Formats: sequence, structure tokens, C-alpha cells
Amino acid sequence: AKESGRDAFRFYKPHMNEKAQGLLWLETELRLAIEQEQLELHYQPQYDLNTGQLVGMEALVRWNHPEKGMIPPGEFIPQAEETSLIIPLGEWVLNTACRQIAAWHAMGISPIRMAVNISAVQFYRIDLAQMVAKLLDHYGLPATLLELEITESVLMDDVEAAAETMNKLTAMGIQLSIDDFGTGYSSLSYLKRFPISTLKIDRSFINDVTINEQDAAIALSIISLAGHMGIEVLAEGVETVEQLSFLQRHACQYGQGYLFNRPLPAKDIERQLKTAHLP
Ligand code: C2E
Ligand code: CA
Ligand code: CA
Ligand code: CA
Repeated sequence: AKESGRDAFRFYKPHMNEKAQGLLWLETELRLAIEQEQLELHYQPQYDLNTGQLVGMEALVRWNHPEKGMIPPGEFIPQAEETSLIIPLGEWVLNTACRQIAAWHAMGISPIRMAVNISAVQFYRIDLAQMVAKLLDHYGLPATLLELEITESVLMDDVEAAAETMNKLTAMGIQLSIDDFGTGYSSLSYLKRFPISTLKIDRSFINDVTINEQDAAIALSIISLAGHMGIEVLAEGVETVEQLSFLQRHACQYGQGYLFNRPLPAKDIERQLKTAHLP
């Protein structure tokens, strides 16, 4: 057994090294990226599906790498989480999002709520409430303009600590939403414990909602659950008019997706913010 253990070690070692080296490269590059402002936020509007009113937007980070071009978050956020670089990166994201709201306000655009994605590491390893409070104060923003998106798994890691952080944040007036709702294999009982303002129905259920009965059943159950609990509900990844009319027919209040807008750089979204209505 010892021999085979050693063999297994020998077998896996090059792979591990490659992975470790890849992470090291990424870590070095990402550190630079944060310092040298290679990161960018794009913004995707969220609409009230009944009135067509623009009600908020989600900030989504991109890495504009000098050689590799625009790198999507799926390719560096997981690594940033593994190396704890998500902490400075997440602070950069929150700071940039707040600065942007203030800049738009100064341009005369009426304030619109901004949703920011928060990862578990940020939620548990730093005083998130204190950091956010400082930023809001620095930019002179009301807390009600900020929404933090967390996933179900974040809440399940450490229920006590999660409740404490969430209570602090909501006491400040910050909204909390559950991202990718329905994909987390978690119990629903946490909905009773935590002060949640919005459930975001995961894109995977919306994709085939008009042709797959199971997806439709799940989406409808989430809409109904949210309604009965007095929580708002938003459908992610709305791409077609068929999906939109399904959601409208079934009283899903809010939506976000390529049908309305792709995530766009700040300057490209300003016109949409001024109109503040479905395109
Ligand atoms: P997410 O929070 O679920 O964000 C939604 C993703 O779906 C975004 O991908 C968005 O561009 C994409 N999307 C929006 N509408 C549609 C649609 O109609 N169809 C399709 N197919 N996709 C749509 P993106 O920007 O690549 O982000 C991927 C993930 O990376 C995010 O998923 C989030 O988990 C993470 N992420 C992005 N920015 C941040 C950040 O600042 N901090 C943290 N911690 N995570 C982030
Ligand atoms: Ca999100
Ligand atoms: Ca999501
Ligand atoms: Ca997602």
C-alpha cells in the first residue's frame, strides 16, 4: 500500500505543480491587475417586468489583461477565492461600484440601486459591514442603494456567523439577495432566519422555462415561495420574449438578462440609466 501510495504521489505531483504554478502566475498577475487598474466593472440593468422600470443593476467584474485581453470572472474569481486575493479584489469591486454610483449621481442621473457579488471568503474573513459602512460614508451614499448578492452555500457554512453579519448589514439598510437560488442543495429553513430581500432564480431554470415542465415547475415554486414569504423575486438570464411573457404571466416581478441588456461598461450604460426604462 505504501508503494502504491508513493506511486500515486509521483503520478499526481507534476499535475499539482502545474496547478500550483498556474495559481502562482495568476496570483502575481492578479495582484498587479488590482494595483494597475486592469480590472473593470460592467453593469447589467434589472427591470420591473410589469412596469418596465429600471430598478437596479448588477456590477460584474472583468479583467482587462494587457496581453490576454478581456478575461471573464469565471476564469479568475475561483482562483482569487483560493488565494484570498478575493479580499483586495472584492474591496476594489465594492469601492469602484460605490464610486460609480456617486459619479452618476454627480452627473444628474437619479440614484439606482447597485447589486454587488460577495464571495464566502469576504463574508467570513473580514468585517464586511464595517468595510461597507466606510465606503458608503466616504462617497456619501445611502445604504439603501447597495445590495449584496450571496449564494446559499455562503449561508450554510456557518449559520451563526452568517446571521450576525447579515443582521449588521440589514440594520444599516443594505439589501441582501440570494444569488443562483435553487442550485445550492440547501434547506429552505434559512429563509426564516435571515433577513433576505430578494431571491434570484438561477439562469439554469430560466433557460428552458417555456419548454421544460420541470424547469417551469421550479421557477413557479420559487416565485410562489418568495410571494408567500414577502420576499422579492428576480429571474436571471432572460434571453427571449417567450421567457419574458412566461415570467410576466406568472407574476415574477423582476428580471435581468441579454434580452434587455448585456453587462456594459459604465459609459455605455449611461443612456439606459437616463431612460430608466426597458429598451
Ligand atoms: P452571477 O452572479 O450569477 O452573474 C450572472 C452571470 O450571467 C454574469 O456572467 C452575466 O454576464 C451572465 N448573464 C447575464 N444575463 C445573461 C443572459 O441572459 N444569458 C446568459 N447566458 N448569461 C447572462 P459573468 O459576468 O461572466 O459572471 C460570472 C460569475 O462570476 C457571476 O455569476 C459571479 O458568480 C462571478 N462574479 C462576477 N463579478 C464578481 C465580483 O465582483 N465578485 C465576485 N465575488 N464574483 C463575481
Ligand atoms: Ca450575481
Ligand atoms: Ca446568479
Ligand atoms: Ca451564477
